Amino acid sequence: MSETSAQVRVIVVGAGFGGIAAAIELTEHGYDDVTVLESAAELGGTWYHNVYPGAACDVPSHFYSFSFDQRASWSRFCSPQEEILDYLREVARAHGVDRRVVTGQRVTSCAWDEGTGTWTVVAEAPDGTTTTRTADALLIATGQLDKPSYPRIEGLEDFTGPVLHSARWDTDLDLTGRRVAVIGTGATAAQLVPELAEAAAHTTVFQRSGNWFLPRRSKEYSAPVKALLAHVPGLNRVFRALLAAYLEFLTAAIRHPRTLGRVLAAWSTLFMRGQLRDPEVRRTAWPDYTFGCRRVLFSSSYLPALQRPDVTLVGDAVTAMTERGPRTADGRVHEVDVVALATGFRTTDFMFPMEVTGSGGRRLREDWADGPRAHLGMTVPGYPNLFLLYGPNTNTSGGSIVFFLEHQARYVRQALDLGRERKAALDVRPEVASSSDVTLQGRFVGTAWVACDSWYRDESGRIVANWPGYMREYADATREVEPADFRYLPVPG
Ligand code: NAP
Repeated sequence: MSETSAQVRVIVVGAGFGGIAAAIELTEHGYDDVTVLESAAELGGTWYHNVYPGAACDVPSHFYSFSFDQRASWSRFCSPQEEILDYLREVARAHGVDRRVVTGQRVTSCAWDEGTGTWTVVAEAPDGTTTTRTADALLIATGQLDKPSYPRIEGLEDFTGPVLHSARWDTDLDLTGRRVAVIGTGATAAQLVPELAEAAAHTTVFQRSGNWFLPRRSKEYSAPVKALLAHVPGLNRVFRALLAAYLEFLTAAIRHPRTLGRVLAAWSTLFMRGQLRDPEVRRTAWPDYTFGCRRVLFSSSYLPALQRPDVTLVGDAVTAMTERGPRTADGRVHEVDVVALATGFRTTDFMFPMEVTGSGGRRLREDWADGPRAHLGMTVPGYPNLFLLYGPNTNTSGGSIVFFLEHQARYVRQALDLGRERKAALDVRPEVASSSDVTLQGRFVGTAWVACDSWYRDESGRIVANWPGYMREYADATREVEPADFRYLPVPG
């Protein structure tokens, strides 16, 4: 550990996979003044907040986990929420970063002070008290799927029963014998609906768009399979390589909708036809957009659940909420006892409403008025020593976000090493950021992503969530920090 690295004060905002990855990378490279501020009562990020029935990850666990902390003990191919949260807690503990997490600290503002070359970070506790901290570098790891999106449905507050968002579920709520409405049919609903159908007296699913599905059975691993993964040298690595190839193939299908995309669409069609025996449900549930434009859903239980006698799929738009339940465009009121909102996240808000102020008092919200953008998803001109994790254009439709976060953590640590050597704060050059943005946006042309509307786009239609290529391309682009990409602002001391 170098003496100077010990003096670099780093604040990380968010203790999900990104914040934990960054804290581990930094502390293991001698940065010992690292504080992770987390608004929730515990670390875990998305895996702390999303406790709805059936919550799980549809990305295989051996790849939805850190390369440096692999487990042979995953219970199944795609693990449930509690197992992933336990994994993250264990990793944080094993690497000694759990004690760096300060919970109950919602960061409300961060401002760059040119005089001192530091960030001033203000955080609010649940009781309203604020704490101001100072750092030499700031990492914002609040991600894209952080803030629940509540639909603008007229009269939503008039409904007399509980209204729950999937990302803020009340696990004490007993659904036995109750009639439940589910609004939304994305990746969350695909996991939630089969579970609700089991528990509730009746489930009514309100769909605005159908989706493309591929199978996900995720049976529990047998003891011999677990033993093989644990004891055969190199097998875990081979397994991960196969999973990576499979995930990259999904991205290839999205990148090439007329060729590989058609092959996967044909597989999906066969699978969905086999599952959707009821012609009425099949007609309603069928997607009307290009395969891969929105997230492909992995579930073998959702479409069968829609055809249960105690489940109704409604394809008419919800026009308003009444005291007794949703009203649809045909004028019907669907009487229910509970409303579950599986309506996703305010993805394009990123860290906002946090106020982020850079050089010369510039505001990130204003700089992003034409859409969020960052060089490699991490750095923004005019915001020295600010790094974003899971920032603009780093979401993946086919891969594992954990893979991206690991590469981002390494890149940020290298950038801080560079700043430490040069006794300077790094500010990405505007021409570098704008040229990489133009190249990145150009790579969406001809892909399935641009064939429809989705949560990947901002209001102007620009795709701001997704990386347009393969995981390996992101790894190549971020493997080594390019010193010429930055301006170096001398910092006092
Ligand atoms: P989502 O994909 O954004 O889906 C939201 C759903 O709500 C859509 O069906 C949307 O319809 C509908 N909706 C939104 N506003 C509505 C309104 N006013 N009236 C009626 N319907 C409305 O959200 P999500 O399912 O929570 O998933 C978000 C992302 O989280 C996923 O894409 C994925 O990246 C991640 N996720 C991952 C997993 C996993 O296993 N890895 C699981 C869950 C979530 P439209 O489609 O018509 O807009």
